[in-house]
Amino acid sequence: MNHPLYIYNSLSRRKEHFKPLHEPMVGMYVCGPTVYGDAHLGHARPAITFDILYRYLQHLGYKVRYVRNITDVGHLEHDADEGDDKIEKKARLEKLEPMEVVQFYLNRYHKAMEALNVLPPSIEPHASGHIIEQIEYVKAILDAGYAYVSEGSVYFDVPKYNRDYHYGKLSGRNIDELLNTTRELDGQSEKRNPADFALWKKAAPEHIMHWPSPWSEGFPGWHLECSTMSEKYLGEVFDIHGGGMDLQFPHHECEIAQSVAHSGHDAVRYWMHNNMITINGQKMGKSLGNFITLDEFFNGTHQALVQAYSPMTIRFFILQAHYRGTVDFSNEALQAAEKAYERMMDGWKRLNELKPSEKSSVDVNGLAEKCAEAMNDDLNTPIVIAHLFDACRAINSVNDGKETISADDLEQLKATFKTYLFDVLGIVDERAGGSGVNLKPYEEAVDLLLNIRREAKQKKDWATSDLIRNRLAEIGFDVKDTKDGFEWKVK
Ligand code: ZN
Repeated sequence: MNHPLYIYNSLSRRKEHFKPLHEPMVGMYVCGPTVYGDAHLGHARPAITFDILYRYLQHLGYKVRYVRNITDVGHLEHDADEGDDKIEKKARLEKLEPMEVVQFYLNRYHKAMEALNVLPPSIEPHASGHIIEQIEYVKAILDAGYAYVSEGSVYFDVPKYNRDYHYGKLSGRNIDELLNTTRELDGQSEKRNPADFALWKKAAPEHIMHWPSPWSEGFPGWHLECSTMSEKYLGEVFDIHGGGMDLQFPHHECEIAQSVAHSGHDAVRYWMHNNMITINGQKMGKSLGNFITLDEFFNGTHQALVQAYSPMTIRFFILQAHYRGTVDFSNEALQAAEKAYERMMDGWKRLNELKPSEKSSVDVNGLAEKCAEAMNDDLNTPIVIAHLFDACRAINSVNDGKETISADDLEQLKATFKTYLFDVLGIVDERAGGSGVNLKPYEEAVDLLLNIRREAKQKKDWATSDLIRNRLAEIGFDVKDTKDGFEWKVK
């Protein structure tokens, strides 16, 4: 390879040549979703960023074990609602088992990820399924002397750890400030220092999710699941740990402290963080009225949206920015992304219809090399897209008869689009069902038939209505009547 892969390591704060510990195996861990609500834009960016990394590493020939956890034990630190566990609260309100809430939102999360063409990870471990391992992990930290038991809970001793190691090295926080200035107000804290964090929490009597431990009936602290499960599935030292930038502190800082206290050394070789998404320049938040779920984007049902945006529009939009840059969502920006995506798909469609000439007048040589160079420069997807648009311009010129392309160049160009646009960037042609055939007229024909059936039903013309339904079922369509009309899919 002419250009080795360089990725930005958030810990060293520079681009580093990526070399896995056990070539050709790569161990990769990404902090996954907390499943107590529908997936929103904030979930889409890390999922797509690390999907690109996962795809590209495989493209380079590595065998990747990609672990993305499911946070299904709710967390006190996470909740604005006075220490109420969000999953439990939902379960109580809706009279469901907590695991029913988890499964419901997890299924919906998976569906949204599939729509975005995000590949499923190799392992998706649940925090609640690894309580025994987490208890063992806490025991080891206690044995090493970096934690203490207080009123049935176990806390990580940050000042003690910081005397021997460096707490704050990832986030760059000033630890002295953290240790000395954030005094707790009530004076009744179980913690020795406000900077200490929970490894195990004793459960209050009304808490539904709790497990026995040597210290109390309780539940693990949030940061613990990632240290424990990454070690279990990837080993004491592994290659890449990813997540959103908002997780650097305290989550990832605490993960580092836990694994160093547990094993005596760092677990992660390359830390990678995607930047955040804003909406019209503002942070997303329920109180700001700009909290838009992925389903709402796909259906256009949120009041802030002037239209629906397809999953590929969202994916294309996210990839048009480098993952370490900020992304601001607005209707205008999404409409531009939709047009850009369509232009790209038109280019691909034309490419497949071009007739080769004896010789090429366009220069498409080196396109694959240029795309590789951009990907190797810390996954520079906007540059890859720019190169593919250059190729689209050449394709259009040939299509318009202004330029010519040889059969060899044509094949090479198709192969490059296939590799970079479809395999590496994970784009699919939504208009063509991914197969290169335009399915839109066919979809509209089915809709037309079902609208005729609907009108027949309204006129109580049951013979026509049944005929259409039965014939469509025989042909292989699964038709469902819904509140607003109908839904169909191919069986
Ligand atoms: Zn995590």
